[in-house]
Amino acid sequence: MKLKSGVLIVGSGITGLTIARELLKRGVEDILIIEKEKTVGAHASGRNSGVLHSGIYYTPDTFKARFCVVGNRLLKEFCREKGLTLRETGKVIVASDESKLEGLYELKQRANQSGARAFIIDRKELSEIEPHAATYDKALFSPDTAVINPKEVLRALVEELENSGKVKILYGTAFLGLSGNRTSVSSQGAISFKKFINASGAHADKVAYWFGVGKEYRILPFKGTYKSLKKDRSYLVRGNIYPVPDLRNPFLGVHFTRSVEDKVYAGPTAIPVFGREDYRFFNDFSLETFSILFRDGVLFFKNEAFRCSAINEFKKYSMRFFFEEAKVLIPELCPNDLEDTDKVGIRPQLVHWPSKSLVTDFLLIKEEGSLHVLNAISPAFTSSMAFAKHAVDLFMAQ
Ligand SMILES: Cc1cc2nc3c(=O)[nH]c(=O)nc-3n(C[C@H](O)[C@H](O)[C@H](O)COP(=O)(O)OP(=O)(O)OC[C@H]3O[C@@H](n4cnc5c(N)ncnc54)[C@H](O)[C@@H]3O)c2cc1C
Repeated sequence: MKLKSGVLIVGSGITGLTIARELLKRGVEDILIIEKEKTVGAHASGRNSGVLHSGIYYTPDTFKARFCVVGNRLLKEFCREKGLTLRETGKVIVASDESKLEGLYELKQRANQSGARAFIIDRKELSEIEPHAATYDKALFSPDTAVINPKEVLRALVEELENSGKVKILYGTAFLGLSGNRTSVSSQGAISFKKFINASGAHADKVAYWFGVGKEYRILPFKGTYKSLKKDRSYLVRGNIYPVPDLRNPFLGVHFTRSVEDKVYAGPTAIPVFGREDYRFFNDFSLETFSILFRDGVLFFKNEAFRCSAINEFKKYSMRFFFEEAKVLIPELCPNDLEDTDKVGIRPQLVHWPSKSLVTDFLLIKEEGSLHVLNAISPAFTSSMAFAKHAVDLFMAQ
């Protein structure tokens, strides 16, 4: 029997769930979400650092700046309303040497322009917030950065959606393609829809191609691995300690985050890998591995920022190199303080293939009857509720 839906959403990550919630608020009923996994949170939305960013990194003309600042506030309100864990520790960004001060002041300026709170602090003020962190002369303090439990947030969203009686989530159901007009082929049979939303994260480019959308884009996967501080040394970090990032790249560099479970993580890395779900070395080996390898190779030669980042990130497979980067933030750190963890996530990064450039902002494309979220990169978790409002505005506009 053919399943029917008003709006069919592919993907039950934070993007799909918050878009469904926003549609509900606007009176849309008959929403069906299909999810290929057996639960929510199997990919990026359940495997991230759980940091609610405050929006200080991005230039004010970007979606990231707009949606992160508002999204931070909305997600905090959601956590408070639902009684979910919310650790409001703030965060410091430290400069390893004089050359990083320019980047620090640039972040302060971006924050001011985007409406995010950020304060330049001296070393004495830093030592009151993070007694074990080091900086060259000045640091940046972001009081609105917080930490949540991403899976807890996803579960609360699912509960709210399902309780409405107007949203159904079908797990273990993969979108496989289209057959004829407004009918999707899924692993559980045909599903008809009036409108379609692609929120499939790491697979968003492939789903979009079925609609003839986004053919100039390719997704490349980057693996984020974490180490953790041993329990008896976790006092070295109270909240979040970050370096000044290379602003040419979308990744923030190795940093320390105290999770809601009180475990201090260091990471994540952003190492190019060969499968969209390659969490363990080569566990996602397929024919596509060869095209991913090819694309990584082309970018390596054509894009200097990618080349520098890839070389640097590959080195982080070595504990010694990882440790050297982490020690810049906390000079007291000893090699034995860090231990391996099984926490790992994959960041799907969109590449604009004709220009061989990484797309650094969120990207969504609307076509007649369908909407495609193509680049829900970090901080898409933080930004999700504000992003969803924008996505639904676009989706419902004639
Ligand atoms: C290591 C790491 C750390 C991060 N840290 C942060 C952070 O601290 N703060 C922050 O704001 N953001 C962070 N992010 C980014 C954030 O997690 C992601 O941007 C966000 O979760 C993307 O959500 P999504 O719903 O678009 O994708 P996903 O969570 O990947 O969800 C997509 C869903 O679609 C499903 N799907 C895919 N293809 C199909 C198909 N064909 N049929 C059916 N279902 C399908 C998948 O199974 C998946 O469940 C981090 C990301 C990573 C990887």
